[in-house]
Amino acid sequence: MRPVSDLLTERTRSSRSSVIREILALTEAGGVLSLAGGMPSPDSFPVGELAEAAARTISGQPAQTLQYARTDGATPLRELLAAEASVRRRRDASPDQIVVTTGSQQALDLIARAFLDPGDLVAIESPGYLGAIQAFGAQDPSWLPIPVDADGLDTDALEAELAAGKRPKLVYTATDFQNPSGAVLSPARRRHLGELADRYGFLVVEDDPYGWIRFGEPIHDPIAATTERCISLGTTSKTLAPGLRIGWLVAPVEVAAALSRLKQAVDLNSSALAQYLTLELLGRPEWSRARAVELSEFYRPRAERLRSAMLAAAPDLEIPPARGGLFLWATAPGVDTTALLPRAVANGVAFVPESAFRTDDVSGECFRVSFATLAPDELEEAAARLGTTLAAG
Ligand code: PMP
Repeated sequence: MRPVSDLLTERTRSSRSSVIREILALTEAGGVLSLAGGMPSPDSFPVGELAEAAARTISGQPAQTLQYARTDGATPLRELLAAEASVRRRRDASPDQIVVTTGSQQALDLIARAFLDPGDLVAIESPGYLGAIQAFGAQDPSWLPIPVDADGLDTDALEAELAAGKRPKLVYTATDFQNPSGAVLSPARRRHLGELADRYGFLVVEDDPYGWIRFGEPIHDPIAATTERCISLGTTSKTLAPGLRIGWLVAPVEVAAALSRLKQAVDLNSSALAQYLTLELLGRPEWSRARAVELSEFYRPRAERLRSAMLAAAPDLEIPPARGGLFLWATAPGVDTTALLPRAVANGVAFVPESAFRTDDVSGECFRVSFATLAPDELEEAAARLGTTLAAG
């Protein structure tokens, strides 16, 4: 008899792990200092506050925290998130526009399944967030890669494609400290993108997981302040802890309802306990403000330490200072960074090459390193190993 794996759908069978993923999996064996992942430092988690809130809410509100919840999310949390969205967007957002998701990754998956038929065109930052490429890619779309510079997604390049007749259904952008390049979408480009959405009828997906980790960068209005053709994504993964798996989306009411119907079949609801913990912490404005400052102060010296160690170890690298978030984006002029990765892993250090963040077959001379996960002295050792690898040519 044929193995049960033969019963998998054609699409599931053809989805394969990438070469880069396989190389990076080797780094888990030990001995490799990985700058590849985007995991926040466990030293940054608000352990005491979460433990105290868990003890209090579980005994005080067992019928809420330990019970099934509404698919679109616990009402008080949606009210809080709607009130915050109203301030940021400078117009009213109602709780009916919010869906609490299991991380913002689930929001990307729901959006992909709700909006994309095979072959539909998706405009995506190039380089762009790998998880978005995977979520949208699962629907077999066509890609419209749009370049990114220090001001984020190049909206003039997008406009040129639109003027040439391209009609993306979705345009995805990570607005603040973009993963992987660290770019911040400028206020002028946010407005431009909103105008283009209204003129050409596409939907913007704006993703902002890193907005609280800012190294002196001013806060800009979201794209949703300029157009209603927008879904905004948020998450607690980088502000509280990724283990909560709580994210959310803010969408037009009918879209939120459609996405909530899809979510029902996936997981009924995101963890009620984690939603109430989120509410406890984010519901305290002063705590949240202090937390954003604390996170920025925690990560900024690590960013500077890794950057200066890398420049000392490999003076040919070009690395703009991080403006926030968890990543540095380095350019190694003339180097194919995909080919460099296995040599780096052999030398005990890992990064993510540019090709992982692209939907075309270009390899590229850039790579992403995270300063978030390793301890500060390990960052220096990792930089030294990178320098050795680059020097070996
Ligand atoms: N969007 C971006 C740009 C990210 O970098 C990440 C996390 N790496 C996510 C979404 C997903 O985050 P989560 O599912 O943990 O909320």
